[in-house]
Amino acid sequence: MSDVAQYAVRDGIAVITLNNPPVNGLGNALRAGVMENLKKAEADPAVKAVVLIGSAKAFSGGADIREFGKPRLKPDLPDVNDQQDAMKKPLVAALGGFALGGGLELALGCHYRIALPKTQLGLPEVKLGILPGSGGTQRLPRMVPMAEAIRMMTTGDPISAEKAKEFGLVDEIAQGELLESALSYAKKILSQGAKPKRVRDLPPKIEGDVKAFFDEARAMVAKGSKGYPAPLKIVECAEAAATKPFDEGRKVERDNFAYLVGTTESAALRHMFFAERQTSKIPDVAEDTPTREVKKAAVIGAGTMGGGIAMSFVNAGIPVTLIDATQEAIDRGLKTIEKNYAATVSKGRLKQEDMDKRLGLIKKSIKIEDAKDADIVVEAVFERMDVKQDLFRKLDAIAKPGAILASNTSTLDVDKIAEATKRPQDVIGTHFFSPANVMRLLEVVRGKKTAKDVLATTMKLGKALKKVPVVSGVCDGFIGNRMIEKYGQQSLFLLDEGASPQQVDAAAQKWGLAMGPFTMGDMAGLDIGWEIRKRRYKERPDFVYSKVGDRIAELGRFGQKTGKGWYLYEPGNRKPVPDPEVEKIIDEYRKANDLKTRNISDDEIVERLIYALVNEGAKILEEGIALRASDIDMVYLTGYGFPPYRGGPMFYADTVGLSKVLSSIEKFSKGYMGAIWKPAPLLVKLAKDGRKFND
Ligand code: NAD
Repeated sequence: MSDVAQYAVRDGIAVITLNNPPVNGLGNALRAGVMENLKKAEADPAVKAVVLIGSAKAFSGGADIREFGKPRLKPDLPDVNDQQDAMKKPLVAALGGFALGGGLELALGCHYRIALPKTQLGLPEVKLGILPGSGGTQRLPRMVPMAEAIRMMTTGDPISAEKAKEFGLVDEIAQGELLESALSYAKKILSQGAKPKRVRDLPPKIEGDVKAFFDEARAMVAKGSKGYPAPLKIVECAEAAATKPFDEGRKVERDNFAYLVGTTESAALRHMFFAERQTSKIPDVAEDTPTREVKKAAVIGAGTMGGGIAMSFVNAGIPVTLIDATQEAIDRGLKTIEKNYAATVSKGRLKQEDMDKRLGLIKKSIKIEDAKDADIVVEAVFERMDVKQDLFRKLDAIAKPGAILASNTSTLDVDKIAEATKRPQDVIGTHFFSPANVMRLLEVVRGKKTAKDVLATTMKLGKALKKVPVVSGVCDGFIGNRMIEKYGQQSLFLLDEGASPQQVDAAAQKWGLAMGPFTMGDMAGLDIGWEIRKRRYKERPDFVYSKVGDRIAELGRFGQKTGKGWYLYEPGNRKPVPDPEVEKIIDEYRKANDLKTRNISDDEIVERLIYALVNEGAKILEEGIALRASDIDMVYLTGYGFPPYRGGPMFYADTVGLSKVLSSIEKFSKGYMGAIWKPAPLLVKLAKDGRKFND
């Protein structure tokens, strides 16, 4: 008997228990164990029915993703399904916790299903760019109405046991303990003379004009799935379920599954899945490093960021003392928080009582001393070294021993901030992204002296706040902003050379970015980039910029907030409208600087923007600022609107091929402002060795 699939017989009913914690992943050993036990139950004359069960927490979370894209190990799940279909004895699935992906397909291979009230049932494969490859696309539409089956498979969102019962996907909701309920259910149906009821023999649940139904379904799904091939392939399989015999439908499913597993989009989504799980692994900080307790927080500065950070804490149930310098500032800050919550309540996404509970966890103050009980203090005051150092000096004097002192600085040297205290080991950067209560990215900036347990605690806290914490070393801009500066620099050079803001934005968006650089600038405020550049002109003469952006900002065109930036904005409307005035400004700038224009292709625009990110990313990796290429990818996927199906800039470069990326960079280095295109030595080396960033 296999350990992962246990076998027992109770009152003439064979019980096969999936025992592969934590989620009963359907790896090869488990599949083989289930297969063997099904055969054993079938052969045993004392057995009248079979119950297939996991734990109360998990029936099964589905396939082992690591097996995707590799040669299939036998028996695969379709083999197990075939054995289920061949059974002459009724087969009952007892579903606890969740039956997802292959887990639900295994349950669909059973003849009857009983579930605990809280069980979730779903086929989330689409989230990894694939489709249910073991009969799911054929069996689900025979159990639930076709429209619902398509919705479940194209969104990947699970349904509750109750909903599943309504649709007929679940036969009974267990009232008591799962195994006992399943055994009595099996006995009940045996006493009623139940026979195996194979899902494959049932008709698909669709009525009316099948062709019209699928035309509409395809149009709807196509609209919502740009860049992702899987959803339309799912509709194709569902259509096969409606129009072809079961085995032919299975073939359509099998072919489409094989196709999707091989796509770059699916590889990118799988990369993202693993990358997210990697970020908290820090080579020199053991996973079992004891962490400090974080039960109370203080946030200093109740402006744009401080307010959002305070919301992140109370959303996770951690009480916060929010402190600002004046009564007026703190009142304003709290009002904004209330307004934000109220908007969520009015959209029906938060209950009024939960809003009240969260607001009840925020205490406002204008005294730094009120941070003295906090386990962590996050500072989000003005971005000036003197202001930050002064504040950290004060915090050092009042914070309790062992409190973590965190700075939300986006550009300043965390080590210098730490120097203002006598406890640099407790100082760390927590770089939230705006809006801080919404954005998932949290760059955790490890200072030279940051203690390991402070780092481990902050990473754990980041997860508790539902963020994706990514470790960054100290450097100007950390991972994300250091890279985006190079991207912004290219976007301006493209204007110098003849492109228009709308051409650059359209090319970037068509490639998959949430928005192009100029629309993004208008949203963030053009004064911010302008301030940074002005500082650069003084501090870093090696940073070359086109001054065309300054010409726009000098006119007070700061973007959306002033109604004008790179584009025009109608009052109350965020839609960017191209502005002939901007065209004139750019043109005058070109003439004044004797710049020659040329036609620039969309492909070149995308390469220049994205490879600027990649080249800087390679330097960041080489310097050890980022721990791994996939961390850089996560920064861009969760903080900068990078399209998941591209897998992040470093993964994208891998899919293009690093030698191809390098040869484009070499070509750019001979073009306009070519001196800034120095290929990162790591890129050169990997390209030469035929390797990847994400090896
Ligand atoms: P903000 O101007 O909106 O808010 C700053 C707040 O700090 C103000 O309410 C101010 O009254 C208060 N303050 C200033 N000095 C103080 C002091 N000594 N004691 C108490 N309160 C004080 O600024 P912001 O945009 O929220 O930025 C805050 C920090 O976050 C900066 O370091 C910034 O670089 C960083 N950051 C900003 C963004 C962003 O998109 N705005 C993103 C990431 C990080």
